[in-house]
Amino acid sequence: MADILLRGGRVVDPARNVDASADVLLQNGKVARVEAGIAAAVGTWVVECKDQWVVPGLIDMHTHLREPGQEYKESIETGTAAAAAGGFTAVCAMPNTVPANDTRAVTELVVRRAREVGIVRVYPIGCITQGQKGENLAEMGDLQEAGCVAVSDDGKCVMNSEVMRRALEYARGLKLLVIQHAEDTNLSAGGPAHEGAASTRIGLRGQPAAAESVMVARDLELVALTGARYHVAHASSAETVRLLRDAKRRGLPVTAEVTPHHLTLTDEACAGYDTSTRVNPPLRSQADVDAVRAALADGTIDVVATDHAPHSPVEKDVEFEQAASGMIGLETALALCLELVAANLLTPAALVTRMSAAPAKILGLPGGTLAPGSVADVTVIDPQVAWTCDPSKLRSRSRNTPFGGRAMRGRAMLTVVAGNIVFEEEKLVG
Ligand SMILES: [Zn+2]
Repeated sequence: MADILLRGGRVVDPARNVDASADVLLQNGKVARVEAGIAAAVGTWVVECKDQWVVPGLIDMHTHLREPGQEYKESIETGTAAAAAGGFTAVCAMPNTVPANDTRAVTELVVRRAREVGIVRVYPIGCITQGQKGENLAEMGDLQEAGCVAVSDDGKCVMNSEVMRRALEYARGLKLLVIQHAEDTNLSAGGPAHEGAASTRIGLRGQPAAAESVMVARDLELVALTGARYHVAHASSAETVRLLRDAKRRGLPVTAEVTPHHLTLTDEACAGYDTSTRVNPPLRSQADVDAVRAALADGTIDVVATDHAPHSPVEKDVEFEQAASGMIGLETALALCLELVAANLLTPAALVTRMSAAPAKILGLPGGTLAPGSVADVTVIDPQVAWTCDPSKLRSRSRNTPFGGRAMRGRAMLTVVAGNIVFEEEKLVG
């Protein structure tokens, strides 16, 4: 492994309050030095980073890698290649695989496959309940020992309040984060779209925003009861934001994430019945989008996470009502979030906080900073380069994105994991 000198970039490292021009030297898989005017020793790989941002590697808290069991949609190899191309140096793998990651054996398989073919770091998330059935708790202690960094039944909500209470109590003892896919499934009733003016006009069954916030409200009561650390996956509604803001004011140990698509698309995107816009929670109203954007800006929502959810044409080339929920997101997330920077909603430091420092801190992961001595996980971003999203060119095995053809500005130019270059955008580097 050669030493790498990232020269003359804008180093944005909010964990240390750094936003300044500097060189970054990576040695032996670690950040060695961050200062101006570092001389390159013989044999050092020098990357000129003028007009680029040099930031701690992006970390996605919410990725569906589909392995084991659904490799026709994605695999650890293709999903982590997509992650690297999107500027991510680590992803957390959600457990709704086939079989679900509810035992040590499945966690160990994911860890082993990631070591064999993974391009970026993979941190498994284990199930809350066995088979994600919402009935009996999974052996969280075993899952944690085998490498799980959090538990979630994502894709499904833990509906039974008593089960959720015990899950929170058990997780608290293990200091394990509980990530909830908050959806009262009686209230959502499988509605494929957001209940509102758009769903009425275009004739799609809607699910109310309250299907999410009812469950967040219940969970916050259980968090107050148990003291466990709780994280809301893909927060999407104004009322959820209000509840989170209130919970944080009360000092509850609560965090939340929002997806790039809930930040940038409204329910109007479903008007063409493009099944790639079918996601769960559904794309919401403009008022909801405004609320999650404001919450991300003021820190009420801590993290941007992709909810990268690959599906094949088998699941998507069907009627909207029948289509599987989810869109891919690893290769478009950064550019979509840079739109928020361009709109002066986020500073570059806030963007790096939400996409790197905060997830690292919430999950206790290496990275999230360029402090000397920390892992050499680094992303070099060109914030200005113009490109157009072409789904056929994405690294993901799946193509289910509504962002095809969208004019983007800004992207990852270089992704480094443990001092190794794992992605390089050819035309502008070297
Ligand atoms: Zn979910």
